[in-house]
Amino acid sequence: MSTATTPANPKVGFVSLGCPKALVDSERILTQLRMEGYDVVSTYQDADVVVVNTCGFIDSAKAESLEVIGEAIKENGKVIVTGCMGVEEGNIRDVHPSVLAVTGPQQYEQVVNAVHQVVPPRQDHNPLIDLVPPQGIKLTPRHYAYLKISEGCNHSCSFCIIPSMRGKLVSRPVGDVLDEAQRLVKAGVKELLVISQDTSAYGVDVKYRTGFWNGAPVKTRMTELCEALSTLGVWVRLHYVYPYPHVDELIPLMAAGKILPYLDIPFQHASPKVLKAMKRPAFEDKTLARIKNWREICPELIIRSTFIVGFPGETEEDFQYLLDWLTEAQLDRVGCFQYSPVEGAPANLLDAAIVPDDVKQDRWERFMAHQQAISAARLQMKIGKEIEVLIDEVDEQGAVGRCFFDAPEIDGNVFIATEKDIKPGDKIMCRVTDADEYDLWAEAL
Ligand code: SF4
Repeated sequence: MSTATTPANPKVGFVSLGCPKALVDSERILTQLRMEGYDVVSTYQDADVVVVNTCGFIDSAKAESLEVIGEAIKENGKVIVTGCMGVEEGNIRDVHPSVLAVTGPQQYEQVVNAVHQVVPPRQDHNPLIDLVPPQGIKLTPRHYAYLKISEGCNHSCSFCIIPSMRGKLVSRPVGDVLDEAQRLVKAGVKELLVISQDTSAYGVDVKYRTGFWNGAPVKTRMTELCEALSTLGVWVRLHYVYPYPHVDELIPLMAAGKILPYLDIPFQHASPKVLKAMKRPAFEDKTLARIKNWREICPELIIRSTFIVGFPGETEEDFQYLLDWLTEAQLDRVGCFQYSPVEGAPANLLDAAIVPDDVKQDRWERFMAHQQAISAARLQMKIGKEIEVLIDEVDEQGAVGRCFFDAPEIDGNVFIATEKDIKPGDKIMCRVTDADEYDLWAEAL
């Protein structure tokens, strides 16, 4: 493992004043910053920048807001103001000319952009291992939100520098995660996307300690977290799940409709030799049998995954093994990357033949053609079925949404021709009328 050290995570302090609506705004901003790798700290001294979410409802609230801004400037110096009082920028700047930015209520993107200006997010995006797409995640549409449950990772995959950069797994307290989820749902979120570097390892670092949520005990463990999230009445989608044995516990929850029957498992390869060189966790030759078993319990289950082709030492035989495995596994949603070395990753030191670029490209194209045929055939089977669709966008041509098959930004869409008066965030029942390799077309019922 590389011993290269990289800068610590940027740190944000946050003061949230005002009513529950302001608290919800704070939660959305904090959720976004946390997901981008910022640490949220509780003292002015520890923060690289302080955000004050103000209340401007009555004069006393405005006075308190101005006082807190003053305190933050005195104690820290780098202060961004948002919230209801932000609409009175002139009044704030008259008293505190040194504030760095002022935005109004629900201007999530502007606040996050202002934080980026003062303390940039970490620039170590890697498409093979990162939790979010390179373009980042917009805070709109507002009907889905990412819920980060832990930081760091206990594994040592040879192509990855996350453990040396972000350290070992640190699980967030289960009560905090569930409180955040509850506030997001109160703010109108209809879909929670659970993310971390290794979602199935949640709680390992704290020995699955029992926490509390709404006065009841809840274990810091993936299954118990999912059970609790399922009581919030929104879609719960799991990303970055490794196939540890206890993942089997989730399948009955999916079959019972408690969480979405969707598992994002980054398999990365299938050849035992390549997986060993990659040092991937939780892989064994029974994975295909487990997938079969999961589908017997929950026939609806959608499995998404990503793969790497052209890893050092990958032979044509290994690659053919991967294609055959894909034929057997019948995964629904698949992404593929050509291997490229990450600075500081142990894979760079492997004593293995480097796969030439033209061979990587050829394998990537063959992989994509192979999997597209599988994905297209699986989507064809959905034609005629009734599905619930969460609407993401509406324009004059109709509506675009997603059903449980599709995570936002990375999977497909459902295109709906409808005259109905619907808006983003609505859930409507549809019948599937057509499909291609990625997307579905449907009519509203
Ligand atoms: S599981 Fe492997 S790829 Fe994922 S963060 Fe940990 S070391 Fe990196």
